[in-house]
Amino acid sequence: MKIHPIILAIFSVAVAVQGHADPLRVVSTTTDLAALTEAVGGDLVDVQAIARGTQDPHFVDARPSFMRRMRGADLLVYNGLELEIGWLPLLVDGSRNRQLQAGESGALNASTGLPILEIPTMELDRSHGDIHPEGNPHYTLSPLQGRQIAGTIATRLQHLRPDDAAQIDRQCEQFVARLDSQISQWEQLAEPWRGMKVIAHHKQWEYLADWLGLEIVAYIEEKPGIPPTPRHVRDLVRLIETQEISLILRSTFVDARPAQRLAERTMARVVELPAAVGAADGSNDYISLFHVILRRLETSMPTTEGG
Ligand SMILES: [Zn+2]
Repeated sequence: MKIHPIILAIFSVAVAVQGHADPLRVVSTTTDLAALTEAVGGDLVDVQAIARGTQDPHFVDARPSFMRRMRGADLLVYNGLELEIGWLPLLVDGSRNRQLQAGESGALNASTGLPILEIPTMELDRSHGDIHPEGNPHYTLSPLQGRQIAGTIATRLQHLRPDDAAQIDRQCEQFVARLDSQISQWEQLAEPWRGMKVIAHHKQWEYLADWLGLEIVAYIEEKPGIPPTPRHVRDLVRLIETQEISLILRSTFVDARPAQRLAERTMARVVELPAAVGAADGSNDYISLFHVILRRLETSMPTTEGG
């Protein structure tokens, strides 16, 4: 039997349209995880982040609009390590989407399998104010971790969309190759900073410091989430002077004033670093986030002239 060419054409279009399933609806808790999911998933995913890049991810309002968004989601990608403990359980419950419950295939804890820094040796109690009870949750701030998270996300997307496994593999490989070539350039740029002592506001830059060889000797927050007392500030001033510390790392979302006051009383200068994708101009995806971080560090480095 001969099929009329027009019918064949209509049939092919129908197959092409049907063969391309709707993108997976993904909700991520942070913009970093959204960016990594997009990098790996490409047009196979439609990703929305809950927290904005400029927002402190420890403290997010559990709004009904987020629950509605999660109700129709195929996948929730979250940070874990209790970063979202104050709000995500409320959203998951409110979404009434059983697929997003921990342990289901629609819930991905992105910290799975990652090396985690500062895991407490004894049990901490949040009532003492520490908001990092399972170790430092800001692990996306090293591209070495991002590289591994991309693989974790790819595996889960492939599980949910086995027909697209080859495309997901390809996209993940391309992203990791781009990231790797950047990583070596960034490492070259940062080579002279190795061993440099800095102060940070929140315990947020440990993964970055670990990667680049910076040494964070003290924090403006006495404990993660706890603002400094005047006594602690005096101690920091003394420390900056005796150890000749020239840089204070401050995340975009924290109160700018304590770091500024420290800088005014010492020779140290403050560098504001975007703490997530979208937190500063030009940091619109995972790789450009590190471009901005490294550029800001570079322009804030003390000049060596005059010894
Ligand atoms: Zn934190």
